[in-house]
Amino acid sequence: MRFVDEFRDGMAARSLAGAIRRTVTRPWALMEVCGGQTHAIVRFGLDELLPPEISLIHGPGCPVCVTPVALIDQALAIAARPGVIFCSFGDMLRVPGSAEDLLSVKSRGADVRVVYSPLDALALARQRPDREVVFFAVGFETTAPANALAVAQAEREGLRNFSILVSHVRVPPALEAILASPRRRVDAFLAAGHVCAVMGTQEYLPLAAKHHVPIVVTGFEPLDLLQGILMAVRQLEEGRAEVENQYARLVKAGGNRPAQALITRVFQVEDRDWRGIGAIPSSGFGLREAYAGFDAGRRFGVREIGGRESPDCQSGLVLQGLLKPRECPAFGTTCTPDQPLGATMVSSEGACAAYYRYRRFEPAEAP
Ligand code: SF4
Repeated sequence: MRFVDEFRDGMAARSLAGAIRRTVTRPWALMEVCGGQTHAIVRFGLDELLPPEISLIHGPGCPVCVTPVALIDQALAIAARPGVIFCSFGDMLRVPGSAEDLLSVKSRGADVRVVYSPLDALALARQRPDREVVFFAVGFETTAPANALAVAQAEREGLRNFSILVSHVRVPPALEAILASPRRRVDAFLAAGHVCAVMGTQEYLPLAAKHHVPIVVTGFEPLDLLQGILMAVRQLEEGRAEVENQYARLVKAGGNRPAQALITRVFQVEDRDWRGIGAIPSSGFGLREAYAGFDAGRRFGVREIGGRESPDCQSGLVLQGLLKPRECPAFGTTCTPDQPLGATMVSSEGACAAYYRYRRFEPAEAP
């Protein structure tokens, strides 16, 4: 397939792996930020191509995984209301709340629908003025422009039966929290290319300088990832800590200005809880007061609903790169995609889901 196969060429991959092997002289730990990158690494066995000095640590970049359990419980409460059509991306339906998931609520008769865009939910609101249509707005900076657009469009059209339940998170504050942690293991980051396609690369400059950490904005295909790793290893070996852009075919330093303007118009930066991790200052987006009427949490009075995480799930450690999925005692035993204990086992970008799907069951390497 054009523009895909070129980035999956085996010869080129082996050549890049050879260049990494010739460059590295000591152990380094690199974190790929995005769950999409984690899935590509595990699916194509890129970690197994690398020299033993390079450890890849899986990062927190799975928005479904970090959506707090309280927000899942709020979604369940809204979805169960009569007269509501609750719209969501598909992988949210299996994410466990305190007691059940959206699929269970749907099986009892709630009108829960899978959509592919917030604009699908908006269209539904136009078609069904007799129903409240709620979209579960989950995502990083990547999906924020489309959600902002849906809200702005609903306001323009005077659609009062449309609202969103917001669970938007921002990458730079999460990286700051990881770097500031006393348990920090990360020497360099492979930043998420799609987030930077929207936001640009400037936000990462202060992080790289403050923590003396290389940050390489990287794509999602095997050759993107291997080239990003090579660029990060070169920086580490040369003692540099710069922001570099491997994904230049899509990412510009300034990002997508109209998309940023849309985000700023509709959303404001807020503190946010991350599932399994806890509160991270300034790490989320919430609706501005001018758009508070489209906030499903307020409209349905569910904002005080709390949540309770499974005590057996260690996804907080997985999301911070402190634990590999197969090191969790529940992995593949009491926690499987059919019976998940945590979101990382069912999200399409979850690290536990990647390890399960690609059969990474073998015991972890000795430290
Ligand atoms: S394997 Fe299951 S229980 Fe363990 S961290 Fe992953 S989602 Fe949680």
